[in-house]
Amino acid sequence: MGKIWRISGPVIIAEDMRGSQVYEVVEIGEERLNGEIIGLEQDKAVIQVYEDTVGLTVGEKVDGTGEILMAELGPGLVGNIYDGVQRSLVTMKAEVGDFLHRGVRTHALDREKKWRFTPAIKAGAHVEGGDIIGAVQETGLIEHRVMVPPGMSGVIDSIEEGEYTVEETVALLGSNGKTRPLTLMQRWPARKPRPYKRRFDPEDLLVTGTRIMDYLFPLALGGKAAIPGGFGTGKTVNLQQMARWSQTQLNIYVGCGERGNEMADVLHSFKELKDPGSGRYLQEKEIFIANTSNMPVVAREISIFIGITMAEYYRDMGYDILLVADSTSRWAEAMREIGARLEETPGEEGFPTYLGSRLSAFYERSGKVECLGSPGRIGSATVIGAVSPPGADFSEPVTQNTLRIVDALYSLDVALANRRHFPTINWLQSYSRYADSVDTWWERISPDYTEVRDQALITLQKEAELEEIVRLVGPEALPENDKLLLLIARMIREDFLMQSAYHPVDTYSDPKRSHLMLSTIMKFNDFARDLAETGMMVSEISASRIKQRISRMKDVPDEELDQYIDSIRQDMAGGAASLEEGGM
Ligand code: ADP
Ligand code: MG
Repeated sequence: MGKIWRISGPVIIAEDMRGSQVYEVVEIGEERLNGEIIGLEQDKAVIQVYEDTVGLTVGEKVDGTGEILMAELGPGLVGNIYDGVQRSLVTMKAEVGDFLHRGVRTHALDREKKWRFTPAIKAGAHVEGGDIIGAVQETGLIEHRVMVPPGMSGVIDSIEEGEYTVEETVALLGSNGKTRPLTLMQRWPARKPRPYKRRFDPEDLLVTGTRIMDYLFPLALGGKAAIPGGFGTGKTVNLQQMARWSQTQLNIYVGCGERGNEMADVLHSFKELKDPGSGRYLQEKEIFIANTSNMPVVAREISIFIGITMAEYYRDMGYDILLVADSTSRWAEAMREIGARLEETPGEEGFPTYLGSRLSAFYERSGKVECLGSPGRIGSATVIGAVSPPGADFSEPVTQNTLRIVDALYSLDVALANRRHFPTINWLQSYSRYADSVDTWWERISPDYTEVRDQALITLQKEAELEEIVRLVGPEALPENDKLLLLIARMIREDFLMQSAYHPVDTYSDPKRSHLMLSTIMKFNDFARDLAETGMMVSEISASRIKQRISRMKDVPDEELDQYIDSIRQDMAGGAASLEEGGM
C-alpha cells in the first residue's frame, strides 16, 4: 500500500500510508522485513523495523497487515528459545541454518506438532473467557491449561479428546447463532495487559534459594523488583540463580541486549541442570527470549512485552511465574536510539520522555491475581529486572525511574565484588516493601523469623556505624561489647550472606536451612555475650571451635544439617564449660 520515503538506521518513514494505525505491523520491501508503526502524520508513517535495514531503498513497498503486534500463546512455548519478535530460534536454526536470517517468517508455535488434548468439560456447557476447557501435557513439568480466550463466551457445541495441532479445532463454541472454533492456540496483543478478576497483595515468599534475598529482603510472588549493579557485580548470575531455583512453576528468561556468548552459556547451563523438586530438566519449565547485542536493536523494545504477555498467559492458568529481564538498561537504550532517529525532544540524558511510563507499563504487569474463568484459581507473575547503569552510577535515569516503580531493590556493590563477597547485594542499601507482608509466610517456617531478621539487620547497621571509629582508632581500641558486635556482624556477612552460586551445597538454601543458619548465629551472639560477661575475651570466643563449626555450616548437606546444628546448640547450652571440654 505505501512505500519507503526515508531510511534512518532501524527506523524508516513510509508515505501513502493513509488508513494505517499506530502499532500496526507492516511488511517492508521484497524481503518482507517485519516492522511496527510507531507514529503517524497525515500520509506518513514512522516505522521501527525489527530486522537489519541494510539494503533497503527508498521507494520499496510497505504493506500494512491490519494487525497489531501479537504474541502467539499455546503449547510449545515452554522449552523454546525466541528472538525479540517471537521467532523461534530453534525452528529457524533447523530451517535456515542461521540465527539471524532477515525476513524469515517462522511461527512461534510449531504448526505440525500434535498435542494430546484431554477435555475438562462436555458439550452443552456454557463457557466464558478464561474458562478451562481442557489440558495438554506441554512438558514433563507443565500441564498446559487450554482456556477460552478473554472476551469470548457461549455454549460448547462439540469438544473431543484427541491429537491436535495448535491450529486444529478442539471445540466449537456457539453464540448468537454463530459457531466459532476454539484451538489450542490464542493470540494476544503484546502491549496490552491480559485481563483478570482482581488483584491481591503479594504475601507469599518467592523462594529464590539465595539467603540474603529470601531472608533479609524477601520478594513476594507477584512482586516487582530491580537489581541494579555495575559491570561484573553479578546481575546475570543472580537472575540465573533465581530462574533456576525459584519455586515458581514456570520461568521466563529475557536476555535483552546482553552479549550473545553469555546468553549461550545461560542456555547451555539450563540444558544440564535439573529441577530439584522433580528431578527433570529445568528446560521443561523455562521459556527463553534471546535478543542479544548482535541482534537488531529495535526488537529489544518489544521483546520485554512479548515476555510479559507469556508470563500473564501462564499466570491465567493459575500458575506462579517468574520473569527475569537482563538488562532493562539495554532495553531503555534501544528506546533512546529510536527516539533519536525520530528527532523527538529528548528527556534526561537523551532518553525519551516516556521512559518512565514505558518502564512502568512493563513492571505493572506483575501481580498476584484471581484469574478469569472457572474453575476459580489464583496465579502470579513476579518480575525482576537487571539495570546496568554506566559507571555503576545509580543516579542515572533508568535506575532512578525504575526505583520509583519497584517494591524491592537488590543493590549490587562493586566494592563487594572486588572483595569477592558474593552475592554483592549491599545489605545497607537494599530494601523490600514485601518484608511486612511475607512475615506470616515466614512464621510458618519459624515463629521467631521476624525477631532473628531484625536482630541481624540491626547488627549490620551498628557495624556500619562503628566503621568510622574503627578506621580512626583501629578495632583493638574498641570496648569488648563493640568487638563482640563486630564479630557477630562478620559472622552474619561471611557465614550467612556470602553464598557461592558454584558450590554444590551452598548454591541453593531453602528457607528452613536459611533460618537454621541465621538463628544459630544469633544464638551464638547470646552465648558469647554471656561468656563475655564472665570476663572471657572476645578474641578467645572468636577462636573457639564452636565458632569454627558455625563457619562450616554452609558446606553441610541438607540431610545432615539438623544434626550438625543440634550438636552446636547443645554445646552452646553447656556454656563456658563446653568451650573448655571441646577445646578452644
Ligand atoms: P554482571 O552480569 O553484573 O556483569 P555477572 O553476573 O556476569 O556480572 O558476574 C560476574 C562474575 O562474578 C561471575 O562470572 C562470577 O565469577 C562472579 N559471581 C557473581 N555472583 C556470584 C555468586 N553468587 N557466587 C559466586 N560468584 C559469583
Ligand atoms: Mg551480565
